[in-house]
Parts: sequence; C-alpha cells; structure tokens
Amino acid sequence: MRPIHVSSSRHWDGSLTAPGRRALRVATDSPTRLLCTAQRVECRDCGNRIDWHATITRQAVPLHPAELPTAIVPESHRWHVASGIAHHAGDGTPWCRIAHTTLCPARTTPQVLPPSLESLRQRLALRTRRLLDTGAFTPGEQLAAVPPAEDICRPTRPFVQILCARYIAARPVEDIRCVAQTVRRTRCSHHVLAPGTTPGRWTLASTALHHFRRHPTLPKAGIALYDLGHLPYSEQLRWRTQRCPAHAAAHGAPDLALAEWEPFDPLRHHVLLATRLPVSGQQHR
Ligand SMILES: [Zn+2]
Ligand SMILES: [Zn+2]
Repeated sequence: MRPIHVSSSRHWDGSLTAPGRRALRVATDSPTRLLCTAQRVECRDCGNRIDWHATITRQAVPLHPAELPTAIVPESHRWHVASGIAHHAGDGTPWCRIAHTTLCPARTTPQVLPPSLESLRQRLALRTRRLLDTGAFTPGEQLAAVPPAEDICRPTRPFVQILCARYIAARPVEDIRCVAQTVRRTRCSHHVLAPGTTPGRWTLASTALHHFRRHPTLPKAGIALYDLGHLPYSEQLRWRTQRCPAHAAAHGAPDLALAEWEPFDPLRHHVLLATRLPVSGQQHR
C-alpha cells in the first residue's frame, strides 16, 4: 500500500480516487469474497471510527482508519492492507496501520504505548467524551440493551455452534441476513434461515464442558445454544459464510458485508447468555 501523503490520486485513507463510477470486483486470488476495502463502523466501546478489514484467515480486524508513520508504531503493532486484506506486519513503507484495539480509550487495561501513540489515544478519548456529552454515543449499547435472561423469549445475540466452533451472533437467528451482492449490486435481502432449510436446534449446553471449566463468569446452569452441528458440512459452511441458499450455490457472487460471527469470549459475552431455552423450549420454526 502506498503512503497517502505522496499520492494525489488517493483519498486520505489510502483508497484510490476514481474519476467515474467503477464497479468493484473480487480479485481471482483474493481469499475473501468481500467487495469493500473496509467495513466502516463505530467502536461500540468508545464511539470512534474503525475500519473492519478481512485478514488472510477470514477473521476480521478493526483498524484505526488512518495510516500512521511506521517509525512511531512498535513493530508488533504494525498492520498493512494489501488488496483489501489486512496483514499483521509493516509492508516496508514509511506508513502503516494499527489495530483500534491498541488505541481504544475504553479498554480497561490499556497497553503501554510510546508517547506519540499515547497522545493519539488521548485524542480519541477526547472525542469519546464529546460524543458522550452530546448524547451521540452510549458505550456498550448493544450489551446493555439485552434484557434479563428471564425476559428473553428470543435471544438478541444468540450463542451459536457452527463447525465445532462457538460464536455470538450479531442479531437473532431469524434476522441473520445474507451478505452476498445481488445482480443489482445491492445486498441480498434473504435470510440465512431460509424457508425449506433445516433449522438449528436449541439446546442447553452444560457449563461443565471441558472448555467452560476455567470461566467462573459463566452461569452455573446450562446455556441456551443454537446448535447447527447436526447439519451437513455444506449447510454449516453456508451459515458460517452467512449466505442464503441461492448465494451459497452461486460461488461467483461477491460479498457486500463481513459475516458477523463473533468468536465466543466468556469474559466479554457472559452477560449475553440465556439460561433457558427460547419460547418455552420450542424451536423458533
Ligand atoms: Zn474503541
Ligand atoms: Zn443471498
């Protein structure tokens, strides 16, 4: 990636300026089907802007939206973006990117940073304060919005098992939307849990399972889990890539958004867990 300060044909964030409208295409050697160079959102902890980029492992990383001089960023914190994919290293140029998690002023255990990065974190903290003062931002809004477990008839952010891994979904199971691009270049409006497909099974996962033992934050009772493990591999892959049946079959279709699965972290996500099955133990469908 070329540094932004030497090229007048690039925007401030390093993306190319195009004289006219030009369709994005997925490169044949791209490890992701995602069309956009970044998914721009706000950090839900501090309200500052972040760019989610796909990585080579398909996990997404939240990057600070601007490039920084490589000289002020410790080597272990350097990232660069090439062909829309974020790589955890510098690229040999005087400019690099940094993960927002390194700078996020809302982190309770901030990392020790050099003074130049510390001043950047302080500027982000000031912006958070301004957003809070004007009511434009409520920290952890998504987590705080979850009602008590006993009131939940449909988990807002369900705990889901796909391909032997556990995730927290960004929205209720029925509302998870296909990320693929349609022929009209809009995001597909169909849902992953499509009519005619086999749904997952709600089950109470035992916290006595081996990988839960070390986490005292988890409820003692079982945890409501939407288990897709009984579905064929291709169906679980369709859920993991967040595509409707038609777009799972259309391999050439690019993605217009990142799949929203967040790897389950007991420390962060225990407040989202429900301890009873939704709708009196019935399946939603
Ligand atoms: Zn943040
Ligand atoms: Zn679709």
